[in-house]
Amino acid sequence: MKVIIVGCTHAGTITATQILKNHPEAEVTIYERNDNVSFLSCGIAVYLSGDVGDPDAMFYSSPKQLADLGATVKMQHNVTNIDPQTKTVEVTDLVTGETTTDHYDKLVDTTGSWPVIPPIPGVDGPHVYLCKNYHHAKELFNVAKKAERIVVIGGGYIGVELVEAYTRQNKDVTLVDGSPRMLHKYFDQEYTSRIQKQFEDHGAHFAFDQRVTGFEDHGDAGVTVKTDKGSYDADIAILCVGFRPNTDLLKGKVKMHDNGAIVTNEYMQSSDPDIYAAGDSTAVHYNPTGKDAYIPLATNAIRQGTIVGVNLFGNTMKDMGTQSSSGLNLYGTTMVSSGLTLENAKDAGFDAEAVTIEDNYRPEFMPTTTPVLMTLVWDKKTRQILGGQLMSKHDVSQSANVLSLCIQDKHTIDYLAFVDMLFQPHFDRPFNYLNILGQAAVAKAR
Ligand SMILES: Cc1cc2nc3c(=O)[nH]c(=O)nc-3n(C[C@H](O)[C@H](O)[C@H](O)COP(=O)(O)OP(=O)(O)OC[C@H]3O[C@@H](n4cnc5c(N)ncnc54)[C@H](O)[C@@H]3O)c2cc1C
Repeated sequence: MKVIIVGCTHAGTITATQILKNHPEAEVTIYERNDNVSFLSCGIAVYLSGDVGDPDAMFYSSPKQLADLGATVKMQHNVTNIDPQTKTVEVTDLVTGETTTDHYDKLVDTTGSWPVIPPIPGVDGPHVYLCKNYHHAKELFNVAKKAERIVVIGGGYIGVELVEAYTRQNKDVTLVDGSPRMLHKYFDQEYTSRIQKQFEDHGAHFAFDQRVTGFEDHGDAGVTVKTDKGSYDADIAILCVGFRPNTDLLKGKVKMHDNGAIVTNEYMQSSDPDIYAAGDSTAVHYNPTGKDAYIPLATNAIRQGTIVGVNLFGNTMKDMGTQSSSGLNLYGTTMVSSGLTLENAKDAGFDAEAVTIEDNYRPEFMPTTTPVLMTLVWDKKTRQILGGQLMSKHDVSQSANVLSLCIQDKHTIDYLAFVDMLFQPHFDRPFNYLNILGQAAVAKAR
C-alpha cells in the first residue's frame, strides 16, 4: 500500500512511525514544507524564559530517523493540490521549484494549523511576530535580546506563557485581550485573579476588554499597538489569538466544519474513505458535551496519529475523544483543567453546578504543606462530572488526569468522593484532596 502523509510535525511523525513499526512493507512518502519534523512548540516558552537553553533538543524525531524506518521523506516540499478522483497530489520542491505528481492508495492529512492573523491594519509589519514553530521560536529568542517592551496579544495558554517567560527575563510586558481576564475559557475568575496578581508582582501590565485596531510601525523605534481603548508602544508585538486548521487543500473535497476543521469518523477517516486526518487539521470529539470541537493540542495530535497509523490497514481502533485536559506552570504555580468550567457547561446547555474549595494537600504536621484551590463541575441531573480545575504551588498536574478519566468514563461526584486513592502523609491526607473535592460536591448537591 502506498501512503502519502502531508505535513509532519506531531500527527504526521507519529502516523509514519506507527505505520512503519507494524507494516514495514508499506510504502510511505512524507511531504513536509518545513525543514524539520516533530518540534515541540510546547517548549517555546521555557526556551524564551531561559529555563531551557537549546531548542534543538525539542525534537523527538528527525527526517533521518523516519527515513531509517523506511519512509521516503521529502522535506521542504509543499503539497499544492490533492485530487481525490485520481488519488494524486501535486508537490513543489521549495528548493528547486520543481513540480511533480505523486499517487497514493491512502492519504493522511496532517497539515495542522496556523496562527489566526486578523485582518488588522499593520498586522504584517516587521515588528509583529507569530509563535508556532521552531523558526518562530528562534526568531522570538533573538529579537527579544534587544527588545525591552513587548506586547502580547491574546490571553490564552500560549499568550500567558509568553508573558510569564518574558517577565522572568525582566522585560516590560503588556498583555492585550478582548476579554475581561486571561485564560477565561479554562479557569474561573478566582483562579485568574490569583494568577493575575502574580503576573502583576512580576511587573506585567494588562489591557483587558479591548480589541486591537491597528499596528503603527516606527521603523527602528518599534511599533505602537492601537486598541479601541488605548495604545501601547513596544519593540515587538506577538500575536497569540488562536489557530485555524490548515486545510485549504481539501476544501470542497472532504466534509469540514465551518472553521475548516476536517470532520472524521471515530477511526479518523474523513468523508473520503481513502483520506484520513489527524491533529490540528481535524475536529475532535469533545466528551463533556458529546459534540465535535476544535481543540488543537499535541495530545490529540499524537493520539490521533497513532490511531490513523493502525486504521489505514483496516478500521479497528477508535478515537476516545478528549476532555481538553491541559496545564500550565506560571511562576512555579501549577494550573490545570479538564473538561468544562461552570460557565462553559451552562453555555453548552447543562443544568450544571460547581463547588470550589481550598485545602492543604497534605497534613499540617508535615514540615511543609501548601493549599490546593480546586473546583468540580457536574450535571445536576445525572451527577456526572463535567469538568474541574486545580491550582497550587504543589504539583497537582496529575490530578487533572484523574479528573479527565472521571469525565471520560462518565463518573459521578459520588464516585470521586469515595473512590480508593492512596494515603501517605508525604503525599496527601487520609482522604486525597480529590476525594475531599468530590465530598464537597456531594454535600453541595444534597
Ligand atoms: C507555543 C505553543 C505551545 C503549545 N503548547 C502545548 C502544550 O503544552 N500541550 C499541548 O498538548 N499542545 C500544545 N500546543 C499545541 C500543539 O503544538 C499542536 O496541537 C500540535 O503542534 C499539532 O500538531 P500537528 O502535527 O497536528 O500540526 P502542526 O504542528 O500544525 O504541523 C503541521 C505540519 O504540516 C505542514 N504542512 C502544512 N501544510 C502543508 C502542505 N501543504 N505541504 C506540506 N506540509 C504542510 C506544516 O509545515 C507543519 O509542519 C502548543 C502550540 C504552540 C504554538
